[in-house]
Amino acid sequence: MKTTKYMSYYVGELPKGCLLCMRGAKLVYFATGLCSRSCFYCPLSLERKGKDVVYADETPVRGLEDVIEEAKLIRALGVGVTGGDPLLKVDRVVETIRALREVFGKGFHVHVYTTTQPYVNSSTLKALGEAGVDELRLHPKLDVHDELRQVEEAVDLGLNVGLELPAIPGFEAKLMEAVERACRLGASFVTINELEMTESNAALMQMLGFRLKKGSPSAVEGSWEVAMALLKLCEDLGLNAHFCPAYIKDSVQFRNRLRRKAKSIALPHEVITRDPLLVKGVVEPPPGRSLHDAYNYLRSLLPQEFIYVNEDRNRVECHHKALLRVAQKLKRMGFKLSIVGEMPTSFREQVLVKLV
Ligand code: SF4
Repeated sequence: MKTTKYMSYYVGELPKGCLLCMRGAKLVYFATGLCSRSCFYCPLSLERKGKDVVYADETPVRGLEDVIEEAKLIRALGVGVTGGDPLLKVDRVVETIRALREVFGKGFHVHVYTTTQPYVNSSTLKALGEAGVDELRLHPKLDVHDELRQVEEAVDLGLNVGLELPAIPGFEAKLMEAVERACRLGASFVTINELEMTESNAALMQMLGFRLKKGSPSAVEGSWEVAMALLKLCEDLGLNAHFCPAYIKDSVQFRNRLRRKAKSIALPHEVITRDPLLVKGVVEPPPGRSLHDAYNYLRSLLPQEFIYVNEDRNRVECHHKALLRVAQKLKRMGFKLSIVGEMPTSFREQVLVKLV
């Protein structure tokens, strides 16, 4: 068994989709929140679950331009298509993959997550193959016997097929059976996720007896051990397999993607921290004074390139160190001063405010 530099585990070759995802170089295209299954462990958020909503990373999508814009901002090297079940909206998925490949070239890596529901058939699989899917990740039924006929159909169509599995304590036998069958039918890889408790599935999972792992905000107790047993089985079968622990999603994949986006969207007066946050100084005019007054006064103290008028938030911004240099003068004039950190997302959520 091998370890990646991000502290995830694999046997054989690491699937390319996983590698790019951990580097934060994969756009996450959420094609729809609709799904014909209702797995008790489904981790989808309440805002997305069961709703036909589309996101490119955290950004709501109105059209293809939004997807392409987000891919440019994170300097994406590929896309992971997910949901819900994206194949419920196969035309949308195919159109998006084609558009991304047209802009970013044929080397743009595409992986698609889907189920083994009846609408995942030779016609929808053929459409994916023609659009240029590099990795098809099938999520089998685990509550009942699943023939996994889609593995064979997709392999026959020339697709590179794998299984995507949650490592569920108590489901070892079913998971192992699925891996063995998929291997016989021609699958080449398996991706295993540590089971997570989320806001939307926690109540049901606790009722079913699952518990959080000590010291983890989301990983389920016992899931790690199941994942290790599955990796061992994949090794014995000669399958490529990757185990993605819960901490990878937040501390590695999400942060790395935000770091890439931060470099694209940071304005000259903003400093990118390790978190990553966009940090800057903020000057807010007191009652009776306009934004213009704040700008003019700051302009008399600092070079123009350090100053930015943020009309949406009704404030003037500057480099945080420059603000500290002129803070006393500004305070005497009644301006409210702070150092602010924003997430490098489209909404620039403010997560750090320190009054000066
Ligand atoms: S198949 Fe996937 S998206 Fe659908 S309910 Fe199950 S876990 Fe959620």
